[in-house]
Amino acid sequence: MRRTADAVIVGGGCMGASVAYHLARLGVTRVTLVEREAQLATGSTGRNAGGVRHQFSHEANVRLSIESIALLQRFEEDVGTAIDFHQNGYLFLLSTEASVAAFRRSVELQRRLGVTVEWLGPDAAATLAPGLSVDGVAAATYCAADGIADPNGVTMGFARAARSLGVEIACDTEVTGIRVEGARVTGVETPRGSIATSLVVNAAGPWARRVGALAGLDIPIVPLRRHIFLAQPNTGGSWDDPGHVGAVPKNRVMVIDFDTSFYFHREGGRLLFGMGDPDETPGFDTSVRWDFLPRVTEVAIRRLPALADAAVSHAWAGLYEMTPDGMPVIGPCPNVSGFYTIAGFSGHGFQHSPAAGRVLADLVVGRDPGLDLTPFAFGRFAGAGQAGEANVV
Ligand SMILES: Cc1cc2nc3c(=O)[nH]c(=O)nc-3n(C[C@H](O)[C@H](O)[C@H](O)COP(=O)(O)OP(=O)(O)OC[C@H]3O[C@@H](n4cnc5c(N)ncnc54)[C@H](O)[C@@H]3O)c2cc1C
Repeated sequence: MRRTADAVIVGGGCMGASVAYHLARLGVTRVTLVEREAQLATGSTGRNAGGVRHQFSHEANVRLSIESIALLQRFEEDVGTAIDFHQNGYLFLLSTEASVAAFRRSVELQRRLGVTVEWLGPDAAATLAPGLSVDGVAAATYCAADGIADPNGVTMGFARAARSLGVEIACDTEVTGIRVEGARVTGVETPRGSIATSLVVNAAGPWARRVGALAGLDIPIVPLRRHIFLAQPNTGGSWDDPGHVGAVPKNRVMVIDFDTSFYFHREGGRLLFGMGDPDETPGFDTSVRWDFLPRVTEVAIRRLPALADAAVSHAWAGLYEMTPDGMPVIGPCPNVSGFYTIAGFSGHGFQHSPAAGRVLADLVVGRDPGLDLTPFAFGRFAGAGQAGEANVV
C-alpha cells in the first residue's frame, strides 16, 4: 500500500469508485481507495434494487439524474464495462389527492429541465404493466427513459478503469483514524499502516457519520434497514413459463405504489419487490426480519395479484443512508480543510453515483462543477433547513 497519496478515498461502493474514476480522468492518479471489506460493492451498493430514474422532486436531484443516465447509456463505450441497463421506464401510481398535487409540481419541474414524463390514467398505467391492479389509483406518471442497471457492474467498471489509470485499490483495509493537524487533514491510519495525504474523501455510505467522527465532524447520516424479496411462481420455475403469461410484466418496468412505497420489477425470471417499513428505527442490523414479509405481502397482492400464488425464494436487507432532508452531502466540510464527503444519498445513490463522482472530482481539482451545489452543502444542517427530496421511496 502507498505511504503517501494525493487523495485517499474511504469506501469502495459506487460512490468511492466513481470518485476514483473521475479523479483519475482529471489526472489525479496518485490516489488510494481504501475499502474495509475483502471486495468492493458489498455495502449498500451490493444490496440495492438497481433503479435509475429522472422522477425526483428536487431540481438538483433531477439534474444529477439527467447527467448520470446519459453516462449510464454510454457506460460500456466510455468506461469499458457492460452494465445491463434496461430503459423500460418507471411507473409511479398515485392514490391520494396530496400525491397527485405533489407530482404535478414535480412533473412540471422535470419537463422544464427537458425530461419527457407522461401523465396517465389508471387504465393506461395497467397496460404498461401486465398483471397490475389499479384499484384506487387516481393517476400515474411514467418516464420511459428511467430503468434498471447493474450496481456491481457500474462499481467494478469505475474501479477497473480507475486502476488502469494508476489508482490503488486497497481492500481488507479499514480506515481507523484520520489525522488532522491545525484544522487540516494530514493522513489516515489503517491496521496496514498510515498514508500521508492532504485530501480525504468520505465515501463510506451508511458509515459516513463514523468516518466523519474520525475527523472530529458530525455528519447527520443515519443507517436505516430496507428489505428486498425475490419471488417466483409457487410451482417453481420462472414467470416466463407458460401458465404465467400476463400475470406479471415481461419487461423490467419499475412500478412504485407511491402512497405505500411498495415497488416491484422483473429480475430475470423472478420478481423483485420491496417496501419501506414505517416502524424501522436507525441501526446497522441487516438481518432479514421475516415477520415484516406478511405486511409487505398484504399490500403487494392488492397491486399485483399474482404474488398471492408466489414463493419468496430470496430475501436480503441493506441500509439506506438517510439525511434529515433526503438530500446527499457532496463537497468539502468546513472546519477541516481537505476533508470531502460524498454520502447520504438517502436510498437513491446508485443512480446518482456517475454525476456525483464527477462533481466531487471537479471540486477537488478546483474546476467549476457547473451545478448549484448549495442543496448538497454540509453547512445547510447548521441553518434553518431546506425543502428536501420528497420522492424518497
Ligand atoms: C434495499 C435497498 C435498495 C436500494 N435501491 C436503490 C435503487 O433502486 N436505486 C438507487 O439509486 N439506490 C438504491 N439504493 C441506495 C444505494 O444502494 C445507495 O445509495 C448507494 O449504494 C450508496 O453507495 P455508497 O458507495 O455511498 O455506499 P456503500 O455501497 O455502502 O459503500 C460504502 C463502503 O464504505 C466502506 N467503509 C465503511 N467504513 C469504512 C472504513 N472505516 N474504512 C474503509 N471502508 C469503509 C463499506 O464497507 C462500504 O463498502 C438502495 C439501497 C438499499 C439498501
